[in-house]
Amino acid sequence: MDLFEYLNNIMDFFKLPIWRNLIYGFVFFLIIIWLSFVYWVYRDARLRNTSAVFWALAVFVLNYLGLVIYLILRPPEFIDDIVERDLEIKRMEVLLNSKLTQCPACGNEIKEDFLICPYCRKKLKNSCSKCGKPLSLDWKVCPYCKTTR
Ligand SMILES: [Zn+2]
Ligand SMILES: [Zn+2]
Repeated sequence: MDLFEYLNNIMDFFKLPIWRNLIYGFVFFLIIIWLSFVYWVYRDARLRNTSAVFWALAVFVLNYLGLVIYLILRPPEFIDDIVERDLEIKRMEVLLNSKLTQCPACGNEIKEDFLICPYCRKKLKNSCSKCGKPLSLDWKVCPYCKTTR
């Protein structure tokens, strides 16, 4: 066959309807991925407490470029992580400020100056007969007013 016939055969090959179907399928596939990105960005942005609708629209309009911009600019932490960490810090602060300790008998959290455990009624400290400050049971003298016991 000559060159012309050869090229004609190639053109015929690409005129087969399967090519059109493949291209449609490919475009359809790209649209699905694109819409998944829009949804993913919307969800991710909401979790990170940033403007979800704005970013979803940005990805919808700008497509992959919007996605790249979002990945660069998105806040680094999930809002749940931030809330959890703040709660943990607050709990630590409460612990530090109130000088909590554990009851030696029942293990519940109690304040250091409790005279008696409010959970199991174990006697924890005596109060000084003169100044009323809480004293450990084994102290021989009140360190606040020097009263000997
Ligand atoms: Zn107790
Ligand atoms: Zn005292």
